Amino acid sequence: MSTRIETLEFQAEARQLLQLMVHSIYSDKDIFLRELISNASDALDKLRLESLVDKELQVDTSDLHIDLEVDRGARTLTVRDNGIGMSRDDVVQLIGTIAKSGTAEVLRKAKEAKDAAASPELIGQFGVGFYSTFMVADRVTLLTRRAGASGGTRWESSGEGTYVIEEIDDAPQGTAVTLHLKPEDTEDHLFDYTAEWKIREIVKKYSDFIAWPIRMATERTAQAAADAADAATEAAATDEAGTNEAGAATTEVQTLNSMKALWARPRDEVDQAEYHELYRHLSHDWTDPLETIHMKGEGLFEYEALLFIPSHAPLDLFAQDGKRGIQLYVKRVFIMDDCQALMPNYLRFVKGVVDAHDLSLNISREILQQDRQIQLVRRRLVKKVLSTVRHLQTDDAERYRTFWKEFGPVVKEGLLDDVDNQEAILDIVSVASTRDPEQTTTLREYVDRMKDGQDDIYYMTGESRLMVEKSPHMEAFQARGYEVLILTDPVDEVWVERVARFDGKPLRSIAKGQVDLGTADEKDSTEPEREQQKKDFSGLLTWLARTLQEEVKEVRLSSRLTTSPACLVGDTHDITPTLEKMYRAMGQNVPHPKRILELNPTHPLVSGLRKAHEQQDADAASDVLGETAELLYGMALLAEGGELADPSRFTRILADRLANTL
Ligand code: ADP
Ligand code: MG
Repeated sequence: MSTRIETLEFQAEARQLLQLMVHSIYSDKDIFLRELISNASDALDKLRLESLVDKELQVDTSDLHIDLEVDRGARTLTVRDNGIGMSRDDVVQLIGTIAKSGTAEVLRKAKEAKDAAASPELIGQFGVGFYSTFMVADRVTLLTRRAGASGGTRWESSGEGTYVIEEIDDAPQGTAVTLHLKPEDTEDHLFDYTAEWKIREIVKKYSDFIAWPIRMATERTAQAAADAADAATEAAATDEAGTNEAGAATTEVQTLNSMKALWARPRDEVDQAEYHELYRHLSHDWTDPLETIHMKGEGLFEYEALLFIPSHAPLDLFAQDGKRGIQLYVKRVFIMDDCQALMPNYLRFVKGVVDAHDLSLNISREILQQDRQIQLVRRRLVKKVLSTVRHLQTDDAERYRTFWKEFGPVVKEGLLDDVDNQEAILDIVSVASTRDPEQTTTLREYVDRMKDGQDDIYYMTGESRLMVEKSPHMEAFQARGYEVLILTDPVDEVWVERVARFDGKPLRSIAKGQVDLGTADEKDSTEPEREQQKKDFSGLLTWLARTLQEEVKEVRLSSRLTTSPACLVGDTHDITPTLEKMYRAMGQNVPHPKRILELNPTHPLVSGLRKAHEQQDADAASDVLGETAELLYGMALLAEGGELADPSRFTRILADRLANTL
């Protein structure tokens, strides 16, 4: 008897996703079953855990399983579990909306990609989940009751704009999803999903490792038995009841999956496809992982770990509430997702399972964080992931490049957070450099190429490669053939300060501090010349420093410029303009350090200014000189991509000057 029936609308993003499903863009429609089984398996995991933690909960957990039920006449397929179930609000929340971040963006892209081949890949980035049922069904009914609750919920939709939701008095605990299947159509890759062989095949292919039994009642005739034997899927089926007598039709319930936890099996008995299927189950990512790591820890603390490095970054990699991808099991029992204690934040993209043997099933996140054994496991996992990437770097440059392109910016966070592994991380870092616009370089390669007499590793940070490359600071380095690393990820601004050295060589920003390029010989020969220059320019420098005192803290001659008249530099430990901008964008009020204006004494504008200044009485410099000083400072600011405080004043002075030259 129903107490309340309502028709509700899907959230806008959910509607879009459903549209894509109904007009199915993906040719491998079989995966809908994997999605339903995966949800059922999650629900069983959750119930198992809840019953362990909440002793008050009155539920029977003695036979947790998944049932597949076929009604050939009605053309329905039902996936039923006796797991955690959902409340009415859960159903509205979980089935009526898409909460995952980044989904809207993917949907937009998927729509743009008219080409059907491109779309599944995009959709695969977040997993299609429950909605994939609408690829094969024109109506879906869901009946569910939350463990511990008395009433149940019935949900139904044809995947258009709305769904009907109804409170019902009784429903078995758990969830049953019934698909009213579309007519079979092999042209459209739509098979008969009521056929036993087809169901077996899909379960075997996608869900074999699921830890709960997936059962199906089958009508057995001699013919059916022979058919089943033909199907390659037969091998895994474990007969649970009944025997076959030739010719007689018997009903028997079979378990279709082998339920073996892959991570517990010896490495040489697991093939790549099985690993990849588990990865898909864990990550909802349809592309194969870049790397699979299977490890075992013996001795005092036993554990098995199966880790995957994805081949592309997830959409929420930089989201505030970004999760870590490690599931914790204790002796095959699922304990928790997003196990932060087992993977540092900078490796949050690593997916996988850790099965620890000697932990309590009741263990809390807080206790885990402090558990010494867990910390030990974590250290080993981190070392293993880093060394795996290191091996990729030497053995498979192509895959290493993919890794670094996708995850480099995140891994570099580790240079700040994980001091113990700083060296191992520095070993796998690669960065852009002035040497080759197409190729990145490792720090090791850079050091190996350093010129004789070069003591420092030169780098410059900035917002883009172009800005850094064209910045005036680069001039003398380029003229002398020094390679400079170009760092443009936001995190670069921070780690270069923190790390300070690689292989004993200091990391030096070319936009900071004094630059003293050239060999010892060169220095000797240029020294007297420089002394003379200093004397010649001292009047101008003093005057400029006073004129521009609001803007800069010092004015000096530069040895880093060859063609530009001036540039701005910071003191060694000053925060860079890019970093300052980043902090401000995050709403933090950072001090604005004054910078140093460096002049190129050989530039006609600078030498001209000096002459003009000498002809004036130093203390009563004309307006024209003052304006030139402003222009000089403004140009230095613009050249590095900075913003003028008063652009209209700058352009007015410039326009006046240009007019005078005509
Ligand atoms: P995902 O599994 O990636 O979260 P789905 O679309 O497959 O996305 O499912 C959405 C949510 O609906 C699940 O996270 C889960 O909370 C809930 N759900 C789906 N199926 C079941 C089920 N059989 N039992 C309990 N909850 C379920
Ligand atoms: Mg799911």
